[in-house]
Amino acid sequence: MLKQTLLYTGKAKSVYETDHPDHLILVFRDDASAFNGEKVAQLDRKGKVNNLFNAFIMEKLAEAGIETHFEKLLNPSEVLVKRLDMIPVECVIRNYAAGSLCRRLGIEEGKQLTPPTFELFYKDDGLGDPMVNESQSIALGWATAEQLEQMKKLTYQVNDVLTALFDQGDMLLVDFKLEFGVFHGRIVLGDEFSPDGCRLWDKNTKKKLDKDRFRQGLGDVVEAYEEVAQRLGISLDSI
Ligand code: ADP
Ligand code: UDP
Repeated sequence: MLKQTLLYTGKAKSVYETDHPDHLILVFRDDASAFNGEKVAQLDRKGKVNNLFNAFIMEKLAEAGIETHFEKLLNPSEVLVKRLDMIPVECVIRNYAAGSLCRRLGIEEGKQLTPPTFELFYKDDGLGDPMVNESQSIALGWATAEQLEQMKKLTYQVNDVLTALFDQGDMLLVDFKLEFGVFHGRIVLGDEFSPDGCRLWDKNTKKKLDKDRFRQGLGDVVEAYEEVAQRLGISLDSI
C-alpha cells in the first residue's frame, strides 16, 4: 500500500490517500498540542508510542465486536485504516470528574460519576471544540438521530471494555474521547485511542499517566505513556 496525496495535516497526525479508495494511511507525528493549539511541543517517540498503543487498543475493541477503522500497522509511525466519512462530533465519556467538567461546574477533580456521563463536542478548532447537544447536532446536519444513538451505544461499550482492560494494569480510565465516521453506511470507530485522548490515573497513587502531564507541565509525558503501554503488556521493542 503506497502513500499518495497528503489529504490533511492535523495537530498530531497526517492523513494520506493510498492507491485504494477505501483506505488511508495515518502518520503519527511527535507533535503535541493543548489549549486549542496555544501550547505546542515536539515529544520524542510520542508518535510511535501512540501508534503502537492505538493498534493494540483497536485490536482489543475489534475482539469485543466493535468495528474500527484499523486495518494494519505498516511501521512504527504509520497505520493503514479504512477511509471514513468523519462525523464532526466527538463523543466523551467520563467515569470520574476532570478537565472541562470541573472547570465548568466547579466539581472537585476525581469525583466518581455514577453512572458515567456522556457528552458531545463539535469538532472545530476555530471555535475551540464547543460542547453541543444531540438536537443541535441533528438540526445542523452533523449526524442523524440514529447515528448519534449508535455512537453513544458504541462509546459506552468501549468504556466497558477499556475500563476492565486498564483496571488489569491498576489504572483508572477517568475519561476519553472517541471519533466515529461512516464506512459503506456503517458507523465505524475512527481516529485513535491513546493517552493523548483520554485520562488515566494510577489506581492507588492517582498519578496522572496521560496528556494532562503535558497540559499541566508535569514532565515525563512520553515516559508515562510508555509506562501505560508496559502495564498493558504492549511491546515497544520495535521503536
Ligand atoms: P486534529 O484534526 O484534531 O488536529 P489529528 O492530528 O489526529 O487531529 O488528525 C487526524 C485527522 O484524521 C482528524 O481530523 C480525524 O478526524 C481524521 N481521521 C481519523 N481517522 C480517520 C479515518 N479513518 N478516515 C478519515 N479521516 C480520519
Ligand atoms: N479530548 C480530546 N480531544 C479534544 C477534547 C477532549 O482528546 O479535542 C479528551 C481529553 O483528553 C479528555 C476527554 O476528552 O480525556 C475530556 O476532555 P475535557 O472535556 O475534560 O477537556 P480538556 O480538559 O481536555 O479541555
